[in-house]
Amino acid sequence: MNGAGPRIDLKRNRERMVRDQIEARGVADPDVLRVMRRVPRHLFVEEALIPQAYEDHPLPLGHGQTISQPYVVAWMTALLEVAPGLRVLEIGTGSGYQAAILAELGASVFTVERVRPLFESARERLTAMGYRKIRFKLDDGTLGWPEEAPFDRMVVTAGGPRIPEPLLAQLADPGRLVIPVGPSRRSQALHVVRKENGRILARKLGEVAFVDLVGAHGW
Ligand code: SAH
Repeated sequence: MNGAGPRIDLKRNRERMVRDQIEARGVADPDVLRVMRRVPRHLFVEEALIPQAYEDHPLPLGHGQTISQPYVVAWMTALLEVAPGLRVLEIGTGSGYQAAILAELGASVFTVERVRPLFESARERLTAMGYRKIRFKLDDGTLGWPEEAPFDRMVVTAGGPRIPEPLLAQLADPGRLVIPVGPSRRSQALHVVRKENGRILARKLGEVAFVDLVGAHGW
């Protein structure tokens, strides 16, 4: 098996994923491409799905949730403009894959998940992988994380009917929030919201399809 083991194929698949799904669709940020090449996405899915880990679609995580399509993770990460040392809040830990990508960019990551088994397995997985700059919370993330606010960046990886008010309040100035927002369940427009000099500026980008953001300020 020497030299032809599955690990080598996975690495090649990951490189192909970055080239064909991410670079080819216009994500050019070299840091984002580097971390997408580095983080072993196949370790964030259940064993039976490992052969599909680098394919161009979301995958089920159990509990009705999904790990987002690789391109969508890369696109949202590029829109966030993460720099080392920034405090980044993620709503919807899921598998922990997006949190690992943010940590690899040097961010201090705060991630909130409401489904206990997902929260627990993501925390175990990321701790075992050696990530030290990720903090985890089991809660309704539409309330943010007031004790740790303000955050320079926020990314919401589930789709809700509106931008949760507590997130805007906990966003630093300057700050940036990337979030999919309705019109309906299962279909959202990706929004980039900036806070600058006390003003909120929102820009609406393309259509995406995330699982529901539920909770006090969700569906
Ligand atoms: N970022 C994840 C993908 C998440 S899927 C990854 O990289 O794997 C969306 C996640 O958001 C699900 O795990 C879901 O349980 C969670 N979620 C939905 N509403 C939430 C809320 N109000 N607070 C926290 N997590 C929420």
